[in-house]
Amino acid sequence: MALQQISSFAAGQWVAPGAGARTIASAITGAPIASAGNDALDVLAMLDHARNTGGPALRKLGFHDRARMIKALGQALTARKAELYAASFDTGATQSDHLIDIDGGIGTMFVFASKGRREMPDGQIYLDGEVEQLSRNGTFLGQHVCTPLQGVAVHINAFNFPVWGMLEKLAPTLLAGVPSIVKPATNSCYVTELAVRIMLEADILPAGALQLVSGGLGDMLDHLDCQDVVSFTGSADTALKLRSNPVILQNAVRFVAEQDSLNASILGPDAEPGTPEFDLFIKEVAREMTTKAGQKCTAIRRIIAPQPRVEAVIEALSARLSKTVIGDPRDEATRMGALVSGGQKADVLAKAAIIGQEAEQVFTMDPGLSGDLANGAFVPPMLFHCADPDHAQRVHDTEAFGPVSTVMGYRDMDHAVALANRGGGSLVTSLITHDADVARDVVMGAGAFHGRIYINNRDSMKESTGHGSPLPHMVHGGPGRAGGGEEMGGVRGVKHYMQRTAVQGSPEMLARIGGKWVPGATEVAGPAHPFTRRYDELSIGETLNTASRTVTMDDIEHFAHFTGDTFYAHMDDAAAKRNPFFPGRVAHGYLLLSFAAGLFVEPNEGPVLANTGLDGLRFMKPVSAGDSIKVRLTVKKKTRRTDEYGEVRWHVTLTNQDDEMVAEYELLTMNAY
Ligand code: NDP
Repeated sequence: MALQQISSFAAGQWVAPGAGARTIASAITGAPIASAGNDALDVLAMLDHARNTGGPALRKLGFHDRARMIKALGQALTARKAELYAASFDTGATQSDHLIDIDGGIGTMFVFASKGRREMPDGQIYLDGEVEQLSRNGTFLGQHVCTPLQGVAVHINAFNFPVWGMLEKLAPTLLAGVPSIVKPATNSCYVTELAVRIMLEADILPAGALQLVSGGLGDMLDHLDCQDVVSFTGSADTALKLRSNPVILQNAVRFVAEQDSLNASILGPDAEPGTPEFDLFIKEVAREMTTKAGQKCTAIRRIIAPQPRVEAVIEALSARLSKTVIGDPRDEATRMGALVSGGQKADVLAKAAIIGQEAEQVFTMDPGLSGDLANGAFVPPMLFHCADPDHAQRVHDTEAFGPVSTVMGYRDMDHAVALANRGGGSLVTSLITHDADVARDVVMGAGAFHGRIYINNRDSMKESTGHGSPLPHMVHGGPGRAGGGEEMGGVRGVKHYMQRTAVQGSPEMLARIGGKWVPGATEVAGPAHPFTRRYDELSIGETLNTASRTVTMDDIEHFAHFTGDTFYAHMDDAAAKRNPFFPGRVAHGYLLLSFAAGLFVEPNEGPVLANTGLDGLRFMKPVSAGDSIKVRLTVKKKTRRTDEYGEVRWHVTLTNQDDEMVAEYELLTMNAY
């Protein structure tokens, strides 16, 4: 059978394999199926295309435009995911593995698309945090802003998740406004290539936003500079080699690494056999060992159980693992497929042998395969027991990237935490317990060594997402051995592709830069009441100053009895005076808010569709009967929401007859375009 030719997409052209191409074998049968790589790939042209065509086009758009693009890419992939499933079987993955890789990757795109529109501005500059007051009178302020890097993100991915691995990096990169060159691991690049084709054929991205290298990267990394980012997933050895590249070091090129990790799972001391937690622990560990045949950066490599429970854990785990149906992943009965290649199989067996020097193998099974499958990269689950984990080293530093894990006993929680931390920095540790004190101790003791701590028990098990699943909302990465990098984590992940700059200047400057009104910046009177003006007509800084209204004792009495809020500070002069906050009976804060609405509202039907909330309310000075209040309402920020309306955030201040601030808040309305 002719080998499938896996192309690269470089500077707007598909480039077929050429000199230096590698042959890729099916994980299931070991037979050659594809060829990828071309030594003649023009990496300089690719960098130029990304930097000078893709980058400028992406930066012209705003965060919301790019978020919509990411959503459309996710939809294009969804429409053709059956093709991706079909292509993926040859990597050894089962249909449930595909759900993690393909559906999980698409889901990640959707989460970033939605976060981009909900949590990022409808503009080009991201404001990081609030305005900082740098001067006494507020004429000189500071604001951290993030703008897209003007280079290219080179995404180097591991073989185990050819789709998710690309998309979890691509979504935050595109959202940031940075073009990407994706380089999948050669072993499974045929799946990534198909996903890239689907995205490009959907014709959503500007030219130069996405390029693909199938095969080797050549000397691309030697041409990176301070505006570029390398985001790497793979082995610690390769990460070390790539991050030590003199050009990367000299130009301080951002290098995000997510690499080998000796993750652990701890069985809490309360989780005795017979409890829901014990069963849950066995289920999670067995699942982590066998999903993707253990080829997951987050898989559980070390099983840490109370010493007296070690035997029960081994027994229960062995019983569960013995039911693993190993075989052709296309067969629906199969629960565990093959490793990605014969090379990986040899590597896993060699690593298991190293672990075997310090631990006794307590479970394995005959995969029972014959025919074509006999040449596939199948490895059965292998469970080890390390009787002396304190004096062992290899069980804590050898990552057998397959269905291999080691049970070790702990004496007390400090010991359990110390063992988990022996991984030297991991992506994830899980803890199965129903005891919140144990959970707190583990977070305190192991947090510094782990990027994620996953706690599960009878209360959360039905909805929990699994020890091994990085989620787009949460940070993925870990210190030390895990690479020291961080990916995803919602908007945090987008910032890896942007530069944070501390901008200092006058309120007017900051307001104009950020597209968000800042106290002290210009206030302009609009041509009509702002509630009669449509979303697009309102300008940032447009302000309404209302007439004033005197608050009477009758108002306070009436409000108290009408609402039932007869709190003593509003009703009893002597009691209110005994309180350090009040001069005597005072108006209810909510009465003031209601009066404020009465002062600023325009009653007729108009473009204001709804009042959807109020943020950051502060009452600063009490209002007594006889005082008067007036309101200033300023358009602070506008965010497009749907095709029909957008959100207007108003800065509202209430002041008294002496112009002292009585209350301050932000009012949210939805306004028609
Ligand atoms: P590698 O580190 O060898 O490869 C990872 C990526 O780096 C691949 O895309 C690879 O491309 C690329 N790469 C390798 N060398 C270079 C280079 N000199 N310049 C540019 N890119 C390069 O990991 P593997 O995928 O081969 O897996 C090996 C081991 O890594 C596993 O056995 C496992 O222990 C660990 N691993 C850890 C993962 C994790 O997330 N923790 C994930 C996957 C693997 P190419 O394929 O073309 O060589």
